[in-house]
Amino acid sequence: MLVINRHLRTLLPCVLRFQAATNDVMIFPRTSSPCPLTCPALVRRHTTNEKARSYLQYLKRKVIAPPKPPYSHVCQVGDPVLRSKAAAVEPSAIGGAEVQQVIKTLVKVMRRLECVGLSAPQIGVPLQIIALEYPEKMLEDSLPASIKARGLVPVPLKIFINPQLRILDGEMVTFQEGCESISGFSASVPRYISVQVTGLNEKAESVTWQATGWPARILQHEMDHLGGVLYVDRMDSKTFINVNWEQYNE
Ligand SMILES: [Zn+2]
Repeated sequence: MLVINRHLRTLLPCVLRFQAATNDVMIFPRTSSPCPLTCPALVRRHTTNEKARSYLQYLKRKVIAPPKPPYSHVCQVGDPVLRSKAAAVEPSAIGGAEVQQVIKTLVKVMRRLECVGLSAPQIGVPLQIIALEYPEKMLEDSLPASIKARGLVPVPLKIFINPQLRILDGEMVTFQEGCESISGFSASVPRYISVQVTGLNEKAESVTWQATGWPARILQHEMDHLGGVLYVDRMDSKTFINVNWEQYNE
C-alpha cells in the first residue's frame, strides 16, 4: 500500500480526465429514486459549505486580488480548463515573457508538489506545454522490485511544447496512478510501455525523446491533459480509490 501510495504521489504528482453529466443521469431508470445528485441532504450540506467558503473568499478578496493563470496551484477536476483541448503555441512566442512565465511556473509547481509531470492546463493555461522530471532522489525510497516492475528511471527536467506522441510498442501495462487535478484519489490505468515524443523545448528547438516504463506512463498521462482527457477516462473503475481510505477506519 505504501509503495502504491508513493507512486500515486509521484505520478500524481501528476505526475500527472466525461461527457456531460446529463448522460450519466440517463442511466438512472425513470422509475428509480431521485438521482443522488439531487438528494436534499447532499444539497443542504453543499449549500452550507458553499456559504462558508463564499464568505471566507469574500473576506480574502477584500484584501488580495484573485490569482490569474498561470496559477501557483493546480486546477481540480470540474474546472473546464481540464476538459478543453489545449492550443498549440506559436514557435516564435516561445522565447517571449508570457510563455516563459508559464514554463517557469509549471516547473515551480511541479517541484513544490513533488510530482513527476505537469501540464499547462493544470495551472489554468490551455496551451500545449508539459513538464516532466523524475529526480534520482525519488528512487531512493522505492523498493528494487517496484523499480523493476514499473520501469522507474531518473529523468532530468524536460519541457515539451506542441508535443506529438507515437506509440513504439503496442504492449500495455497497468499500474496505479494518480493526478494532482484529482487530488486524493488513484486508480489502475493501462498505458503503452514504450512511446516517442517529438516537439519543441523551452528554447524552441526541435526535440525527440523515446521513453519506456514509468517515463512513458508520465508522458501519456500529460499528453492526455492536452486533449482534455483525465486518467479516470481510461481507468479500471473498480480500482478507483481514495488514497487515504484506511485512515477513515482508524
Ligand atoms: Zn494529471
